[in-house]
Amino acid sequence: MIENKNTRLRRLRKNKALRDLIAETELSPRILVQPVFVVDGSGIIEDIQSMPGIKRYTPDKLTDYVSDLIKLGVNSILLFGLPSRKDEFGSEAYSKEGVIAKAIKELKNSFPELVVAADVCLCEYTSHGHCGIVSDGMVMNDKTVELLSKASTVYAEAGADIVAPSAMMDHQVSGIRSALDNSGFEDTLIMSYSAKFASSLYSPFRCAADSSPSFGDRKQYQLDIRNAREALREIYLDILEGADIVMVKPAISNLDIVTKARSIFDLPIAAYSVSGEYCMIKAASVAGFINEREVALELATSIKRAGATILITYYAEKIAQWIQEEE
Ligand SMILES: [Zn+2]
Repeated sequence: MIENKNTRLRRLRKNKALRDLIAETELSPRILVQPVFVVDGSGIIEDIQSMPGIKRYTPDKLTDYVSDLIKLGVNSILLFGLPSRKDEFGSEAYSKEGVIAKAIKELKNSFPELVVAADVCLCEYTSHGHCGIVSDGMVMNDKTVELLSKASTVYAEAGADIVAPSAMMDHQVSGIRSALDNSGFEDTLIMSYSAKFASSLYSPFRCAADSSPSFGDRKQYQLDIRNAREALREIYLDILEGADIVMVKPAISNLDIVTKARSIFDLPIAAYSVSGEYCMIKAASVAGFINEREVALELATSIKRAGATILITYYAEKIAQWIQEEE
């Protein structure tokens, strides 16, 4: 009888080896991506007030940190840049001397095997903090796609394995794909922020990356949290445009999208557990309400179980450390 079998399995769960034997999901450092904030300049490692435990590094200071990540089995990072100078057009995003191009070169020199993904957007680089070129209070889609394509080519040339457009402009993936192909970077992957919901969980990031919009919001180009089918359509369109990896963010509030996307599409799916998710766990644990390690591992495992191939999380380093300690 089915009932008997279930009872038997439950009884046997006091044996850890047996629990491990029948476990359906395993969290491994190899699927983790650590987001990293890179600030222009040299010799600086600074705390980020809105994200306790996370730091900003100048390109020359990154290697020690990344070397520690690699020792823990985390071989992939996602770079976000903080330029020394911002302007209306976000010029530092696509400058060959820009902070991200410098960081990629530095990292690839020291760690050729490291998977380096670079976020591609303008909001960290524009004086107004919007993700694109603004005219009459509106973000100009096509002009922005041109600049995102230019930035992607600069990062690929510096050695990035993956470019990750996050601006949510229409046709940004196809624009970037043809720019990369035309410049001889056919093998550079595109990880698209396909299903990026307009979320209040991004606010600690905006402080960390200094990228809050100075007027309006991003609802014009980010998804409405009420719309699952629209999210799947966005993923589908990005795949048609040539995305190699599709992303869902935030992660915990959109596990249904991860699961649905997993059952429909066969590309790798990245779930991005965003800054607000990190800070909720951090703050509640600092207050003594929850156990940081247990909650972070539990939530990360649930994201994997939902169907994520790749987990981008500010807890990547810690999770890898905890997994190593358990072994
Ligand atoms: Zn942006």
